[in-house]
Amino acid sequence: MASAKDKLDITTQLVHAGERTKPPSGQPTSTPIYASATFTYESMEEIDQVFAGDKPGYIYTRYGNPTVNAFEDAICTAEDGATACAYSSGMAALHAALFACELSPGATVLASQDLYGATTSQLQTIFGSFGIKTTTADFSDLDGLRAKATEAKPRVLIAETISNPLLKIFDIDACAGIAWAVGARLIVDNTFASPYLCQPLKHGADIVVHSATKFLSGHADAMGGVAISRDQADSMALIGVMKLVGGVLSPWEAHQILRGLKTLAVRMDRHCENAAALVEYLRNHPRIGRVYFPGFAAAEERDVAQRILRDNHMGALVSIELKDNSRAAAFRFMDALKLCVRSTSLGDVFTSVLHPPTASHRDLSPARRKQLGISDGLVRISVGIESIKDIIADIEQALEA
Ligand code: PLP
Repeated sequence: MASAKDKLDITTQLVHAGERTKPPSGQPTSTPIYASATFTYESMEEIDQVFAGDKPGYIYTRYGNPTVNAFEDAICTAEDGATACAYSSGMAALHAALFACELSPGATVLASQDLYGATTSQLQTIFGSFGIKTTTADFSDLDGLRAKATEAKPRVLIAETISNPLLKIFDIDACAGIAWAVGARLIVDNTFASPYLCQPLKHGADIVVHSATKFLSGHADAMGGVAISRDQADSMALIGVMKLVGGVLSPWEAHQILRGLKTLAVRMDRHCENAAALVEYLRNHPRIGRVYFPGFAAAEERDVAQRILRDNHMGALVSIELKDNSRAAAFRFMDALKLCVRSTSLGDVFTSVLHPPTASHRDLSPARRKQLGISDGLVRISVGIESIKDIIADIEQALEA
């Protein structure tokens, strides 16, 4: 017997056929991509209840989406947080985390001097235009940091677990104590470490942020960000930014990143093992002037690295200066690489190289870069999961070149 749908014109059938069928009885073993901007219900009464929050349910993907929620649940568990909210990029997540700290005109943010360039720019340009002041400090100098915090009375302290691009480590527990003493909150960008190497909330951080574009996703094919808080009360503000600023993570990207998370531990094991082996190779190489690697600079930093990072996992990033520490020599070396990819990101399965003064820290003035120790010849290597033999052979031939 012909159903009502069969009586519809083909033009209409093409629009509606196959849609909104009852879900199958077997549960999908992998979270499907809910590629739907909107959600419908049996009645207007039900829609009203969902809008009012009296009944759980999805309404509109900018307000929440099952695939995005699955990723948020997974990363919240991995970071041991109370609530997580995902965004379209790491920058959007940083903005949301800072907003959740109730920054109002006149408030101060005490930022690590060793931050990703765009994070510093966001603080200065976006938050600066609303009358929020940013002052910077060296977070590895605890006495200096304490003095600055006491003087500036900041609302927020912000730093990276492993800093970009000089790979410095900071004592999260001690900094959380300093923040607490002045009534400030501590935001930690955990992008370079990932929750497999470090869980900053367990060390006293209030909010953890990730560029999920990097290790969480791991394959250079998705862009996203996430903020995870130890305090459920932050979810209102984090979700508020998601809904009203609208930088939401798409369900497609959420699916890619959720898949990436499943192999994070095994990838990080190999990334870190390869990075440590590369450091051993580079440290006495006649063409290398200096190697930057967590815990490398001083015994004190090594102690902190051993305390906050997973055993024998000092991260996957290695920064180097050639003996000829010039931009021209760095470019020659990078251009000569055949396997390692010249890329503007990090944390991917393949080994990639980046020149911070040209890319991640381009917006800083040359004088500021010099002050921070980011030399014209600095090269940042994100060590991949390939055979270390092949990575070293490629770097060897490029150094000879
Ligand atoms: N945080 C760090 C440490 C980064 O390196 C980056 C990007 O390189 C970001 C945040 C911003 O992330 P996204 O590019 O996903 O916005």
